[in-house]
Amino acid sequence: APASPPAQHLFSDPAEIEALRRNLLAWYDKCKRDLPWRTLAATELHADRRAYAVWVSEIMLQQTQVATVIDYYNRWMQKWPTLQALAQASLEEVNELWAGLGYYSRGKRLQEAARKVVSELGGQMPRTAADLQKLLPGVGRYTAGAIASISYGQATGVVDGNVIRVLCRLRCIGADSSSPAVIDRLWDMANALVDRSRPGDFNQALMELGATVCVPKAPLCGQCPVKQHCRAQRRKLFGKPTPVPDVEDCGVGGCPLCPPAAEPWDSSLGVTNFPRKAAKKQPRVARTATCVLERRGCHGAPEYLIVQRPSSGLLAGLWEFPSLPLAQDLQEEKQREVLADHLRAWTGWPVVATSLHLIGEVVHIFSHIHQTYVVYSLLLDGDVTLDPASSPSRWVTQKEFHASAVSTAMKKV
Ligand code: SF4
Repeated sequence: APASPPAQHLFSDPAEIEALRRNLLAWYDKCKRDLPWRTLAATELHADRRAYAVWVSEIMLQQTQVATVIDYYNRWMQKWPTLQALAQASLEEVNELWAGLGYYSRGKRLQEAARKVVSELGGQMPRTAADLQKLLPGVGRYTAGAIASISYGQATGVVDGNVIRVLCRLRCIGADSSSPAVIDRLWDMANALVDRSRPGDFNQALMELGATVCVPKAPLCGQCPVKQHCRAQRRKLFGKPTPVPDVEDCGVGGCPLCPPAAEPWDSSLGVTNFPRKAAKKQPRVARTATCVLERRGCHGAPEYLIVQRPSSGLLAGLWEFPSLPLAQDLQEEKQREVLADHLRAWTGWPVVATSLHLIGEVVHIFSHIHQTYVVYSLLLDGDVTLDPASSPSRWVTQKEFHASAVSTAMKKV
């Protein structure tokens, strides 16, 4: 393999880089979406407050759509407008506000990091991408670059899913875009391209382009402000410039950034030939029995038992109906027996397997688990004393259940 990638994958002409920056920023100034964290970052004079807003929004936006995040972000900033306020919150409050947003460890780590800034860093945010990444739990290279460039004006690039797509198309990078070799090149490219005087705006513009114009399936190339710099678009319009590989067309043989030889350019895909990813791993299949235990509360209103999950692992610290992982292909009769044993141990109540009422199944897809909940219910007509040595538990009304730190999967149940 060549030591450095062939020219077709690089930005080497300073005049072209300057033109790309200018075109992209002009488009961003005109077309950017109005988002609450952008408004705050543009109007807040205090850099640490800007950094806090950017940080919260960036953590929420990981794996989550902008439209979903806006409401969570607004509620979060209303409740904890500064990182000092967040540092004083309890994990339970954080989980309650985060409920439904998914990937719950994000909220927990955000709060841990806020505590660290207050208790160990004298309340001052680290101000460079390297320090942010080194000192704050949950802040990776991307988030650090976003905070440092948008809030502190550091000329450092960012690479997220949108940037990967745009850069791979601009420079016809068709090797596996999740491979370290490609990711390293994209970071080099993002750092070289970032506008020196408006780094935060430039980074947001590149991400905005990926989110609104250079979208995964049907990119709007006709409206693209950087189409004249786009090699994928050129290739789509004009095909291969020459059958003989030259400096403009390294072809597929041995180039670390070209598509593998077995997957050459597919003209029916056009620019969406890029980026390419290695096939995703299939999610693990899991089954869990869960039981909605119901009793009449003091005013006769139904109440339901929820228990807290362990403080680490999937859905750490969240609340759920008493649940039990099931072996695959366990017959219904056997499922009832193991669930009844589990509930007996839990409640001290003489639960018999046949009293469990099968409601149905609920499927929930976590990022890496295809989870099926087999849902039972049981109405208790006496008082139950829960073993205090077991996990924390409590009885809640339906309204309290929805206000608790419960996952979307449990709400489905
Ligand atoms: Fe993306 Fe099309 Fe613009 Fe190229 S021209 S960057 S493929 S939207």
